[in-house]
Amino acid sequence: MKVIAATKNKGKIREMQEILSPLDIEIISQQEIGIDVDAEETGDTFERNALIKARAVAMICDYPVLADDSGLCVDCLGGAPGVRSSRYAGDGATDSDRINKLLTEMDGKTDRNAKFVTSVAFIFPNGREITASGEVHGVITDAPEGENGFGYDPIFYCTELKKTFAAASDEEKNSVSHRGRALKNLYEKLKMLEVR
Ligand code: IMP
Repeated sequence: MKVIAATKNKGKIREMQEILSPLDIEIISQQEIGIDVDAEETGDTFERNALIKARAVAMICDYPVLADDSGLCVDCLGGAPGVRSSRYAGDGATDSDRINKLLTEMDGKTDRNAKFVTSVAFIFPNGREITASGEVHGVITDAPEGENGFGYDPIFYCTELKKTFAAASDEEKNSVSHRGRALKNLYEKLKMLEVR
């Protein structure tokens, strides 16, 4: 079954393909079928934003569609930056601007618990919607550590890996990541529906 990924991110498409291929799913990027939509993420939850992105593509094609939305939630900041993770330091800001803003907001805070969350949304051509989520827990470090990854990886110390995501290899990060867990949960739901 061909499934359209409502994302332009090649890394995400590869991960979707790897995890869902036992279901005979072939992931195709929206660009490959000539779709260029970038839905505005106006939802207040990751699940709503994943659904917004998936629906925007599902409206204009006849294939099943898969979308995701992720972010970092910090306990002592009431879950911020959350759904605003990519916009946390405003338009045009860089990963290090966002990291610096977060570290400044957390200055002197002793509760540094945080989690990365991903929600994925899958929409069938008949309109049926399935969602799934995944999380990975950790703490925010006092300073960036490690060179790998992207986004908030240098300040996210993963409790399971006992290192920051930026100090972990791709394989290590993928083995525990929120995105991988959300996709595995989706895989289980699709398998129960005997999707092929
Ligand atoms: P997206 O919805 O997956 O595009 O993620 C939104 C934002 O959350 C990204 O721009 C990053 O700032 C942050 N984020 C999501 N996943 C990760 C991750 O695995 N590592 C670091 N930052 C992430």
